[in-house]
Amino acid sequence: MSEKQFDLIVIGGGPGGYVAAIRAAQLEMKVLLIDDRTDDKGRPAPGGTCLNVGCVPSKALLDSSKHYHHIQHDYAAHGIGVKDLSIDVGQMIDRKRGVVRQLNGGLLQLFKANKIEFANGRGKLKNGRCVAVEPVEGDPWEATGKHVILAAGSVPFTIPNVEIDNEHIVDNVGALEFSSVPERLGIIGAGVIGLEMGSVWQRLGSEVILFEALKELLPVVDPDVSKAAARIFKKQGLDIRLDTRVASAEVVDGKVKVTFEQGDNTKTETFDKLLVAVGRKAASEGLLAEDSGVQLTDRGQVEVDEHCRTSVENVWAIGDLVRGPMLAHKASEEGVAVVETIAGSHGHINLDHVPWVIYTDPEIAWVGKTERQLTDAGIEYRAGSFPFAATGRGLAMGEAQGHVKILADAETDRILGAQIIGPTASEMIAEIVVAMEFAGASEDLARIVHAHPTLSEAIHEAALSVDKRAIHKAN
Ligand code: FAD
Ligand code: NAD
Repeated sequence: MSEKQFDLIVIGGGPGGYVAAIRAAQLEMKVLLIDDRTDDKGRPAPGGTCLNVGCVPSKALLDSSKHYHHIQHDYAAHGIGVKDLSIDVGQMIDRKRGVVRQLNGGLLQLFKANKIEFANGRGKLKNGRCVAVEPVEGDPWEATGKHVILAAGSVPFTIPNVEIDNEHIVDNVGALEFSSVPERLGIIGAGVIGLEMGSVWQRLGSEVILFEALKELLPVVDPDVSKAAARIFKKQGLDIRLDTRVASAEVVDGKVKVTFEQGDNTKTETFDKLLVAVGRKAASEGLLAEDSGVQLTDRGQVEVDEHCRTSVENVWAIGDLVRGPMLAHKASEEGVAVVETIAGSHGHINLDHVPWVIYTDPEIAWVGKTERQLTDAGIEYRAGSFPFAATGRGLAMGEAQGHVKILADAETDRILGAQIIGPTASEMIAEIVVAMEFAGASEDLARIVHAHPTLSEAIHEAALSVDKRAIHKAN
């Protein structure tokens, strides 16, 4: 046993690990948090993928590029003319870095305030809940925890014959750091990252082509939503090529030549930059010593039960490292649930009610089951929907694309799922998550007073429409 003893050691300082560490400190545990990330100046950069190269910087660029796009395309309709519009990509990227750095600093202060021992370096779990720490600076050391939480997150998948150099061929890290707007941007994968980062650079002026292996865009939502999304993205200028597989990519004279297969045809396109966004895998490599005893699945995820227990007693794993959606809020809530379970309370997370959001314009958000999943499961349901084009607020804002759809059990009326494509879908989905967590029915939403004029009236009307009594549309 090592000299340093803790109630809890957390490996990985992303939204799973750091939230677990803070909650444990609140519950008076002695906590060690280990995270290996540093910023471009070599300073500790806690917050994981999400804060450093994921959720936060991508949203900073989505917001900046949305301002630019709105000024260019939407202000004239409001009677506002803007002359001499320009983009300073360097300033945009600096602003994004500033937001990230401010939050890194905020976390380091929170660790101090909560008396969490923070180690900037790599942790490796050995036998007996002993963790070997390889610090960024200084000599290696070891510590033992009564409990250990593995929260090492995820890394991007790669594909054969496409080598990422993060200059010409990039992953999410490189796509957040372009120093100028690429004239032509190729993207492999029209999933969440492809659509979000494609939107950023397309709004700033890139010609963007997305290569997607599947025949359908966003099969995670129902066809009415994915078709609406495909139509809107096409109008915006995103060229999404479905049923297309990239065979290889190579850098020739500073450009990226992509060879892809469409049906029986092999074709090529040349780009200034290529983003590879074909999913992510658990970052289990180098995390476990041979004698750790922790079991991995055949996909390299840490095997856990519904309470995030691994195969070793008092070793837990959460977030992107384990099964379930790869989302920051899912990782955080698992962290809290594990720590509260350790403290003898009843930690719980309902994976069925985890909301998803894609931050395109309009945003796409959903929770619970889709119509497809309900049909496959043989569950009878009633659907109600309402378009933003029929809301006074949507029209007043000039953001009236999309709709809300609510699915409720045909017999009990309990809400089983909802999908929103439209303005501020990311915020509005929360109302439906709350209703679902309280086992609410569509009738409950239909009887709640919603302020007028608001976008949330579309939720009210969609709930009324489940019972075919929406007011502002024909039922
Ligand atoms: P991570 O955030 O990956 O954190 C793990 C940390 O552990 C990392 O800092 C890693 O370097 C460190 N680490 C790994 N191994 C070790 C080790 N052995 N020792 C020490 N440290 C180690 N999710 C959302 O919910 N909303 C979004 O808008 C969103 N946008 C995204 C945009 C992009 C471009 C990407 C790539 C992801 C996005 N995600 C988003 C997903 C989100 O980032 C992840 O689901 C989330 O970060 C997972 O949290 P985590 O704590 O499990 O792991
Ligand atoms: P993804 O799973 O969302 O999309 C990957 C896409 O690539 C899929 O549509 C897949 O069919 C396609 N694909 C795979 N191999 C291919 C190939 N060889 N050629 C062409 N297409 C191919 O993955 P992602 O976009 O890399 O994002 C990873 C994860 O990060 C997401 O699933 C999500 O969990 C998380 N994330 C979340 C958010 C958010 O919450 N807003 C944003 C970004 C990322």
